[in-house]
Amino acid sequence: MALEGHIETVLWTEADIAARVAELASQITDDFLGSSVPLVAVGVATGAFLFLADVVRRIKIPIEVDFIRAESYGSGTESSGAPRISCDIKIDVAGKHVILVEDIVDTGNTLSCLVAHLESKGASSVSVCTFLDKPARRKVELKLVGEGKFYRGFECPDYFVVGYGMDFAELYRNVPYVGVLKPEMYK
Ligand code: 5GP
Ligand code: MG
Ligand code: MG
Repeated sequence: MALEGHIETVLWTEADIAARVAELASQITDDFLGSSVPLVAVGVATGAFLFLADVVRRIKIPIEVDFIRAESYGSGTESSGAPRISCDIKIDVAGKHVILVEDIVDTGNTLSCLVAHLESKGASSVSVCTFLDKPARRKVELKLVGEGKFYRGFECPDYFVVGYGMDFAELYRNVPYVGVLKPEMYK
């Protein structure tokens, strides 16, 4: 079955996403334009790969780009409290402004762990740029580092969403918009 037959509802179309990503990139550009400290974008693999690619190409100042991978032991549609960094960054972030780029913040477990990890590597600030945010489900308050800022694309209702990098069982990352799966697709 073609992909669109798997999706029950579309929450954000490709056009919605493109418009919001452009706004975020322009906000980030404005916020860091006057800074002499190097800027690094760290994408959280795999989910952030499309968002990272779209946002960094619209940022109008020099920026290094890297990935980090965190595995949580949660199964299905919820993360566990204790993620493990299974693939670390290659770039030295000491003394730099880091922007962690995420697909979605849910409980906050994953990002809290990653922010602390980057702080321990000596980043002079850690900001978070998440495509989606589900504040209603937060279990851990996000603490940023230094002058770090919180950027988010959209507030997400409490549905399990897929597309634009986000998966269910590693599928649907290539859906170019964000939607909710038909219930029969979870079986
Ligand atoms: P947290 O640690 O904040 O609970 O969850 C973070 C990770 O869980 C996200 O980066 C994402 O990979 C996954 N996640 C949370 N909510 C959703 C969702 O609605 N859809 C998908 N596909 N993944 C989600
Ligand atoms: Mg993620
Ligand atoms: Mg996933």
